[in-house]
Amino acid sequence: MKVSPIVSASCLSCGVMIPCDEIFCADCAPYALALARPCPRCGGFIPRSNEDDGGCRFCRGRKFSFDATESPFIYAGAVAKAVTTMKYGPIYRTAVAMGRWLGDRVPDAMRIADRVVFPPMSRMALFLRGFNQAAVLADEVARRAGMFLDPHTIKKVKRTKQQAELSLEERKRNLSGAFALTRPVTGKRFLLIDDVATTLTTANEIATLLKNNGADKVFVLTFARKSLHFD
Ligand SMILES: [Zn+2]
Ligand SMILES: [Zn+2]
Repeated sequence: MKVSPIVSASCLSCGVMIPCDEIFCADCAPYALALARPCPRCGGFIPRSNEDDGGCRFCRGRKFSFDATESPFIYAGAVAKAVTTMKYGPIYRTAVAMGRWLGDRVPDAMRIADRVVFPPMSRMALFLRGFNQAAVLADEVARRAGMFLDPHTIKKVKRTKQQAELSLEERKRNLSGAFALTRPVTGKRFLLIDDVATTLTTANEIATLLKNNGADKVFVLTFARKSLHFD
């Protein structure tokens, strides 16, 4: 007898019911593109011609403080729809489903982290938005992967502009000094979770702060990677 899967989740892109361990339905899944051959330095798309120099056109010459970064998906199609839904639609449910899925896929090398963290929002932004989707993602990732969630060590101390419309240089200036630590991090290993990485400015700002204060490792895992090449 064929046992039908338990239908208890909805497709993060179109909303139809799907088996509970999946995030996209059969129709949307082909439009959720995996990042198959990421750049070893920045985790982004790597143009063929630059394979040998240890970085892609985007990250060559840039200094990163984190030790590794990965994103399972390219920010496009069904994945972009899911991330938009998480920000403006059935927010909490989408973030939880996404976090669970990501939590089952934490790369082995990143599991040595002793704390799971996320980019914090300022109190005012949190009040206006209602919740921090990265915090929900990180919480689910930590639960699913059996890791420790640390929501207190990193604090947002400066109000910043929305990053979306800013250039790389403006993003750096916007985020400079935006975060602070509330306790010592010497020798600790961090896994930073976020929904989307674009220029990695936020991740790098937080990683730099942690490393400058003695953190041993900082890994960055995001659900999707948006490439500036394909904007
Ligand atoms: Zn669907
Ligand atoms: Zn790169």
